[in-house]
Amino acid sequence: MNGPKACVIGWPVRQSRSPLIHRYWLRLYGVEGSYELAEVEPDAFEAFVRSFAAQGFVGGNVTVPHKEAAYALLDAAEPAAVELKAANTLWLDNGALKGTNTDGFGFLANLDDAAPGWEGRRRLAVVLGAGGASRAVVAALAGRGFARVAVVNRTASRAFEVARLAGRAGEPYGPDDLPELLAETGLLVNATSLGMTGKPPLKIDLAPLSRSAVVTDLVYAPLETDLLAAARARGNAVVDGLGMLLHQAAPGFERWFGVRPEVTPELRSILIDNLLGR
Ligand code: NAP
Repeated sequence: MNGPKACVIGWPVRQSRSPLIHRYWLRLYGVEGSYELAEVEPDAFEAFVRSFAAQGFVGGNVTVPHKEAAYALLDAAEPAAVELKAANTLWLDNGALKGTNTDGFGFLANLDDAAPGWEGRRRLAVVLGAGGASRAVVAALAGRGFARVAVVNRTASRAFEVARLAGRAGEPYGPDDLPELLAETGLLVNATSLGMTGKPPLKIDLAPLSRSAVVTDLVYAPLETDLLAAARARGNAVVDGLGMLLHQAAPGFERWFGVRPEVTPELRSILIDNLLGR
């Protein structure tokens, strides 16, 4: 295969759906190029990235557990990566390694696409969880001008640390504070791994939540989580997490292959088929 070559680097990486997304766009736009899986152990990560050019790569995505290590190797980082001290998208520019973090962009683009007007009056967003995904979401919501971004997490120290990413808007909470917060929530985000296939359920009583609140889940397997099903049943607008995965991929594709790709309904249905093992 000729043309630019990109990859997704992870450990493990076989579960990554990035090749499905990028290969779809390569076909759709008739771009001569390729996108590969690169399973790279943490000890070998730096050497792998430093040899991008020698291997013929123009760049790549970075997934767990390499995002912080990728950030540390950058010659130049875009603000989204600097904010999170983690990079998920890398590219070579005249020999310099550049990088950004597109998770926050993907999160916002998914909501903009699936639930226009989701921001409401931008008063209170409640984010459950304080892991890597939550960091990107919390920073993105503060960037969109939410007056309050509440981070609710089992481990208090991580809630504090992540809430700081929202600056003055950030507020750390524990699970016991949730009922009171829900009464004022405009956007509820599940950024824990709870509710994912194979993980424990996310147990929340949505009774205090206003019917006008938008509810979104970063978990996309299953596509309709119990949280989304319960919210939909009581009349809340809901947005699943698959769109975030699709939208976060677009900026990298544009960097490497020169075309700004679209998240099409056909791409979404390809991913859904894959998730369902069809
Ligand atoms: P992570 O760094 O491992 O963080 C997991 C979070 O879940 C932590 O806040 C953890 O709380 C909480 N948690 C886990 N088990 C718990 C339990 N039994 N009770 C209470 N809290 C629990 O994971 P991540 O990388 O942020 O990913 C989180 C989820 O988002 C995953 O399901 C992932 O697949 C999904 N995700 C989706 C996208 C997308 O594009 N849609 C992108 C990124 C991630 P503690 O801090 O207390 O341990």
